[in-house]
Amino acid sequence: MFATLSDRLADTFKNLRGKGKLSEADIDATAREIRIALLEADVALPVVKEFVAAVKDRARGEEVSQALNPAQQIIKIVNEELVTILGGETRRLRYAKTGPTVIMLAGLQGAGKTTLAAKLALWLKDQGKTPILVAADLQRPNAVQQLQVNGERVGVPVFAPEAGNGVGNPVEVARSAIDEAKRKLHDVVIIDTAGRLGVDAELMKQAADIRDAVQPDEVLFVVDAMIGQDAVTTAQLFLDGVGYDGVVLTKLDGDARGGAALSIASITGRPVMFASAGEKMTDFDLFHPDRMASRILD
Ligand code: GDP
Repeated sequence: MFATLSDRLADTFKNLRGKGKLSEADIDATAREIRIALLEADVALPVVKEFVAAVKDRARGEEVSQALNPAQQIIKIVNEELVTILGGETRRLRYAKTGPTVIMLAGLQGAGKTTLAAKLALWLKDQGKTPILVAADLQRPNAVQQLQVNGERVGVPVFAPEAGNGVGNPVEVARSAIDEAKRKLHDVVIIDTAGRLGVDAELMKQAADIRDAVQPDEVLFVVDAMIGQDAVTTAQLFLDGVGYDGVVLTKLDGDARGGAALSIASITGRPVMFASAGEKMTDFDLFHPDRMASRILD
């Protein structure tokens, strides 16, 4: 990801090398190049506009350090602005003060929720937690079984509907799962919910009902970074329909141009909290805006 954006920005900065002081024309030309680079990377237009305006403003201002040459100054500003639009500081999970921490996952079908649920469970387990996975996606055929297979791969138990705990009713499954977690002393409950291929009202309502029933500590919106500009639209629809605290970007290992990663936090006001980047269960970690910005400017 970000290969094209990285290359374009590197070319832009190359043009500034050897310059003593940046003229107004240099700043304008650089801003134009940055704008094109971001648009080509599929970053949403309002985000691009805000970004370029901030860079221009700061480049003109006198905050610049004597120790840096003009190219380095612009790189520093772009780096800091990238960190800002990526959400600022790394946002860590909030754990419940008492009882199990409940994490609910929402997103479109195919976003990578079920895979992500298991990755998150493994990541928590590696930190000494005792998570339980909950199969509350009762729409997609095989979703329950897929979660069970993934749960086995990472050695985390899966709570699935069976006679007595809400067959066919995801809200009941989620509720029973929390009771089970309390009984068996699991400290984190990860609820996988249904996603359809497109956003629909029934899906939103179901997710909202689960949310109301279990009052999660964190609702995470899972989104495939490969869907580009659509990611922002979907993110907004889920924000209005279900609401969430943070975003998980999946498939960062693909050749997405990066626009989703760069736009979502800025447009939704919700931080990207985790990045999932591959088919392996360990291809997963907290999302660090500063590291991502450095990678783009590498
Ligand atoms: P769900 O419908 O949201 O539960 O999505 P799944 O977890 O079933 O994932 C959909 C497809 O994307 C599966 O083929 C996964 O193996 C694949 N997938 C999930 N996460 C990643 C990722 O980070 N990278 C790649 N390359 N593929 C992924």
